[in-house]
Amino acid sequence: MLSITDIPGIGLARLAKFNKAGIFTVNDLLEYFPKKYDYNHVDDYGLIDLNKLLTLDVIIIKPPKLFYIRKKLSKLVVTVKINTMIFNVAIFNREYLAKALTVNQNIIITGKFLKNLNNFSAQNIVLKQNFIKGIIPIYNIDQISDKVVSKAINYLLDLNIKLDEKLPDFIRRKHGFVEISKVIDFIHRPKNLEEVSQAKNRLAYEELLVFALRVEVIKKINKRLVTPIKKYDIAKVRNFIDSLQFELTNDQKTVTNEIFRDFKQKSQMNRLLQGDVGSGKTIVSVISAYAIVTSKYQVAIIAPTLVLAKQHFDTFKSYLDSFGVRVCLLTSETPNAERKTIISRIENYDVDIIIGTHSILQDDINFNNLGFIVIDEQQRFGVMQRRKIREKGINPDVLMMSATPIPRTLAISVFESTDVSQIKEKPKNRQNIITKIIDFESIEKVFKKVDEVLDKKQQVFVICPLILNSENRSYLSVEEVERLVKKRFKNVNVEILHGKMSDQEKPKVIQDFYSNNINILISTTVVEVGVNVANATTMVIFSANAFGLAQLHQLRGRIGRNNLLGYCYLVVDDIQVESERLKILETSNDGFLISEYDLTLRGPGEVFGNVQSGVPSFSIANFITDADLREKAFVDAKEIIESQDYLAKKMYLNTIKAIESYNLD
Ligand code: ADP
Ligand code: MG
Repeated sequence: MLSITDIPGIGLARLAKFNKAGIFTVNDLLEYFPKKYDYNHVDDYGLIDLNKLLTLDVIIIKPPKLFYIRKKLSKLVVTVKINTMIFNVAIFNREYLAKALTVNQNIIITGKFLKNLNNFSAQNIVLKQNFIKGIIPIYNIDQISDKVVSKAINYLLDLNIKLDEKLPDFIRRKHGFVEISKVIDFIHRPKNLEEVSQAKNRLAYEELLVFALRVEVIKKINKRLVTPIKKYDIAKVRNFIDSLQFELTNDQKTVTNEIFRDFKQKSQMNRLLQGDVGSGKTIVSVISAYAIVTSKYQVAIIAPTLVLAKQHFDTFKSYLDSFGVRVCLLTSETPNAERKTIISRIENYDVDIIIGTHSILQDDINFNNLGFIVIDEQQRFGVMQRRKIREKGINPDVLMMSATPIPRTLAISVFESTDVSQIKEKPKNRQNIITKIIDFESIEKVFKKVDEVLDKKQQVFVICPLILNSENRSYLSVEEVERLVKKRFKNVNVEILHGKMSDQEKPKVIQDFYSNNINILISTTVVEVGVNVANATTMVIFSANAFGLAQLHQLRGRIGRNNLLGYCYLVVDDIQVESERLKILETSNDGFLISEYDLTLRGPGEVFGNVQSGVPSFSIANFITDADLREKAFVDAKEIIESQDYLAKKMYLNTIKAIESYNLD
């Protein structure tokens, strides 16, 4: 067997880097597809216009200047000429180019004239002598240039190694797919766009098929079971709803009805309740839980974090105490003696609602007539947990709640045998949030706005993607931003919050923020779920480009939670490169729309997290735009599961293996 180090130019050092990218064998390398292609060409002088992506061949007329805006953010500016037109080209974080760019040299620049024709904001600069025209595959493997990757792959392709066909014959014929060795050749060194699209078509289909098989097999495992009908006391439930300080929104009424209809049916409820942060899902779960309590069943509420479990405990108690409902909290923090008491109370039906994290599904807890489970943040609730509950001999109705609005198409296929309820409408007094993309160079503008907010005694969230400065990322960290913010805001209380802090420290900081003892809270995404501080009206998100759109939308849902107007600033280093994707957040507050757009850009694996959701990440397929292929894949998956074909059987077994290994966590 050929190994990677047999390829000329690949030694142990490069092997290590390939390994880091998950490439261990020659086959892995051949199946490592380009992230994208550069269709290299040069635009004519006559095409120059504002705000248009251009690739221009220009000549350097003044040596470049290098500016340091902050650590890990530098800006290189070079003056160039095309025909008679002279302008400045700026690019971020390319210090190494400073030496390479000399006067009278030709360079190829790609980017836009954003505000005027004197300043060009570049995404890429290539020396003319290094510029290759044509279709260039871009692999983006860390620390290995695309040139080296292409050369290695070309070497392998020239050897004409026989590749194993994975698709059963009958499938390949059905869709007229080209054979695998051709596909691999086309994807790595296409001669034209037609070859790219032929290869992509089949490879995208294959990815979607793996996904479809997974869904169909899980569907088989998760056959819907029979549960007892829940005979809740409608008069009591009505009475409870009437006691609320507010009137339910129409969407809240609709989803509550959907849930109650499930309670009355023999088949097990398996429902996903979706709605933005602040759309009022929690109260729906309180009403549902109360109904189940009146039907003489226990309820378990499972939260993704300790902080959130405690918050739910407070919420449920405050709503339900006066209705005689017994609520308890059981977490990893519960002292042993108390834990024992609580467990025996559960067994003796001395409590109605048990709130905690996943640990409440542990073996030593025997529920007494568990009829309903509410899972907040559904991603983390997989096939395994379901099986665990079932193994206890009970089939409670299950309601999953998610603040990440998953488009129906995806929700139904991923969480099959799941019904979907959606809350789209926000409670009446809710204000929309004004969102703006800002480049780091203009951060002072944002800080001035923060001054105004602080003057009004309102509070501010500052979010960073990292806790500590990291070697190889230019993202800002809590550590660095804390320094920056403390230097700029001297007379206010600035505190930090992140996941590495202990479970004792975190709630204390959150409490201080609640009681308005903290003016600016600098935090990682730990605030994404849970922290509700109505007086926090402004959020500044640093290195916003590090986050997905759905996640940013969820983050900003933390502000504008009362009738005060909320402001969210998305700070990026390079507005030219980043603003395209983030723009939708400036124009839309519709979580479903944003989530769908995010999906077209990044794919479900990236959006929802592979490990948590078990959703594969696609490198070629696009779950939304490849809807045709997706439909085919789902039809074929069912056929493959039943087929006696050798390759079909192999695919089926591989799917089972993958599901089982995923469930071992
Ligand atoms: P979610 O769980 O979807 O993030 P919550 O249930 O926590 O949202 O609701 C956010 C806030 O809105 C809570 O303070 C809640 O009391 C309030 N709320 C919920 N429903 C309504 C409504 N119909 N009218 C007014 N306020 C509401
Ligand atoms: Mg909630």
